Amino acid sequence: MKKILQDLSFEELENLIFSLGEKKFRAKQLYDGLTRGKKISGINIPSELRSKLLQEYEDEPVKIIKTLTSADGTEKYLFELSDGNVIEGVLMKYNYGNTQCVSTQVGCRMGCKFCASTLGGLVRNLNSGEILCQVLTVNALHAKAAGKRAVTNIVLMGSGEPLDNYANVVAFLKNVSAEGGINISPRNVSLSTCGLVPKIYGLADEGLPVNLTISLHQTTDEGRARTMPIAKKYSIAEILKACGYYFEKTGRRYIFEYSLIADENCDAEHAEGLVKLLKGKPCHVNLIRLNEVKERDLNTVTEKQAYRFLGLLEKGGLSATLRRSMGNDIGGACGQLRANHLKNN
Ligand code: SAH
Repeated sequence: MKKILQDLSFEELENLIFSLGEKKFRAKQLYDGLTRGKKISGINIPSELRSKLLQEYEDEPVKIIKTLTSADGTEKYLFELSDGNVIEGVLMKYNYGNTQCVSTQVGCRMGCKFCASTLGGLVRNLNSGEILCQVLTVNALHAKAAGKRAVTNIVLMGSGEPLDNYANVVAFLKNVSAEGGINISPRNVSLSTCGLVPKIYGLADEGLPVNLTISLHQTTDEGRARTMPIAKKYSIAEILKACGYYFEKTGRRYIFEYSLIADENCDAEHAEGLVKLLKGKPCHVNLIRLNEVKERDLNTVTEKQAYRFLGLLEKGGLSATLRRSMGNDIGGACGQLRANHLKNN
């Protein structure tokens, strides 16, 4: 596999251009073009420099090979990487802007029982440039029509566990928020983790105030371990302590994802358990009805059950919302588009 130019910060790109004996402004020209989602071959630089770069660097590290559009405007993309692996992403349209969901790994090794991304295990980590290119490519698709930056928010909630690919994800967070680049503020980025506790401490110390989201999905360690193997390694108490540290260092309140699974985690006792765990903490709970994955034997709840659970949390004094499901008509849960693609190819 060739290297990826989008892995580089502007300073690193400048150094590369210097080392090739070129003038400084070529770095800016390249960086601006790449930020606009262009390929190296589509940027107006001297042909000698272009061929030198193309010998070593991928022209198009992330290519959209399929787009599905939902009735509600949500778009789902299947991206192909230069080694032939595929990942997926989503763009959700809200009145405050557009949120893109990006992948951080091909597959995942966390093994959560409700999740389609982990079905085939981890294939490989994505480079920071491959994570960035998902955003640059989708932004370029829409930016022209919008006349401005089209992707305003990012959630690291596609396939993969972001904190299991720590260095590349942190490099991505720095590059995506760089001022001369696409410049999406860390405050508009949410990183979701199943709870790799030491890495949460690490992230708190990076000075990147991203929104931290924890996939909780249960109220006890034993219950959590039934669907999330990582619960055997780190307890809920350890996660809460790490979240407290995150809040102290960044001033950002943290969020818990709680996917409602029938007969698993949404009785009155679970609501009570959540209130006990979280009351008084600077956090918010996001409920989402399980997206059923056909390879998995878990069922979702009715809308009525979901609202009842939400009511119990609110009554208990928690800040909570039931997330609206988007793009239901175009391919369901995380990882399903890729899983179908792999089956049919
Ligand atoms: N690995 C990270 C981010 C990926 S998934 C994490 O664990 O947080 C983003 C969110 O979707 C997580 O909260 C995950 O638990 C949840 N999720 C995965 N599969 C789901 C499904 N089938 N239905 C509902 N939520 C799901």
